[in-house]
Amino acid sequence: MRRVAWFVSLLVLVLAGGTIVIAQDGGQGAPGLGDPFYDGLGNGGYDTLHYTIDLAIEVDTNAISGTTTIEAQATQTLTSFNLDFHGLEISDIAVDDVSADFSRDDFELTITPVAPIEEGVTFVTVVTYSGIPTPYPDPSVDGFPIGWLRFGGTIFVMSEPGGAMSWFPNNNHPSDKATYTFEITVPEPYVVAATGLPVDEIDNGDTRTFVSEMNDPMASYLASISVGDFVRMDETGPDGLLIRNYFPTDQAEELTDAFSPTGEMITVFSDLFGPYPFEVYGAVVVTIPFGGALENQTLSIFGTDAVDEYTIAHELSHQWFGDSVSPATWDDIWLNEGFATYAEALWAEYLDGATGLTDYMDELYEYMVEEELGPPGVPDSSDLFNGSVYLRGGWTLHALRLEVGDEAFFEILCTYYERFQYANASTDDFIAVAEEISEEDLSDFFQMWLYDEEVPEMTE
Ligand SMILES: [Zn+2]
Repeated sequence: MRRVAWFVSLLVLVLAGGTIVIAQDGGQGAPGLGDPFYDGLGNGGYDTLHYTIDLAIEVDTNAISGTTTIEAQATQTLTSFNLDFHGLEISDIAVDDVSADFSRDDFELTITPVAPIEEGVTFVTVVTYSGIPTPYPDPSVDGFPIGWLRFGGTIFVMSEPGGAMSWFPNNNHPSDKATYTFEITVPEPYVVAATGLPVDEIDNGDTRTFVSEMNDPMASYLASISVGDFVRMDETGPDGLLIRNYFPTDQAEELTDAFSPTGEMITVFSDLFGPYPFEVYGAVVVTIPFGGALENQTLSIFGTDAVDEYTIAHELSHQWFGDSVSPATWDDIWLNEGFATYAEALWAEYLDGATGLTDYMDELYEYMVEEELGPPGVPDSSDLFNGSVYLRGGWTLHALRLEVGDEAFFEILCTYYERFQYANASTDDFIAVAEEISEEDLSDFFQMWLYDEEVPEMTE
């Protein structure tokens, strides 16, 4: 697919009485951001600053009701703008306290405020809605609906890449990050585990409201809550970092044991990549017979079958690569998965030295050759999380390390992280850092590993 051109408003120069007046023709915010994989995800014309997601959940029926309040800054004059929102009933939308017109077409929600919003102005949109959320059948994640999910008595959110719009209206693309407040009300005795720092728990009698704050920029796909019969287990990580884990009450003991290396992993990865990016970390484990896990920001989520040491290391490392440094567009997904796969190998190296690393990578290489994994730099848009972006992506980093040497390699990782933290990076951004630090022309190297069909020869 080709990148779709932005809908750029025409600038019209009007000469009036000797002064130049710049007026804009139109003023409709674009309904997409031209992501090569997802034309419609995200919206143009504004930059979100803060979301407040205030929802009451009836756990028994899976029904939700409440508001999402979005503070945003207009980057052009807006006569209308779009949010992405899938399903659910909207009863009202207000822009700066005045009811606004809106229309819906699939997941595009178009909002027309009573008066245009001027470029540069910060405005507040409140969407009031209710209903039973339905997972989003994302075209890139075959057969696994994403977003708001419910299994048995447990409700949880796994949104990567497009599922955030199944539970709150948002600018659904990693390139527009914002801070968040979660105010989630559930009946007693359920517990809410939300991304961000837990700041309050309000007792309303029959219900409780769990409040948490995400004070660092976050892509909407990494916003998540889980609701269940959880016990919260706190420990203190390196440099006083709060690690708060949410485990199903009846498995708390064994899971506390399974997640006990987390603090040490944070130390190891901080030494290799740079300081841990956020003010809190932890895991939530949901009792579903499911081997998946996702690196929601500050609170990775694990199905019960996914709890193992290397998956724990994988999701943790995504806090640096994926969450703090997020892909510029979804075809850069190897920047998430290749890095997290290589972080598993780095954990093996920490535990067992050079042999641990080599054994780990050799096994991946065998699989990569056996499966003839294609180039990770041009993933299949209908199968975003394919083996190549993980294994050949991870091997691209290992091969780079063998090519430029340990010192340059880790300086590349640290520089890349420092330069793009709390923001986004593309594959070209990473290649540029690698060439800058190594002072080598690496174009043939990256061409071979990221873009050529054939699996490259093993370089050790
Ligand atoms: Zn991953």
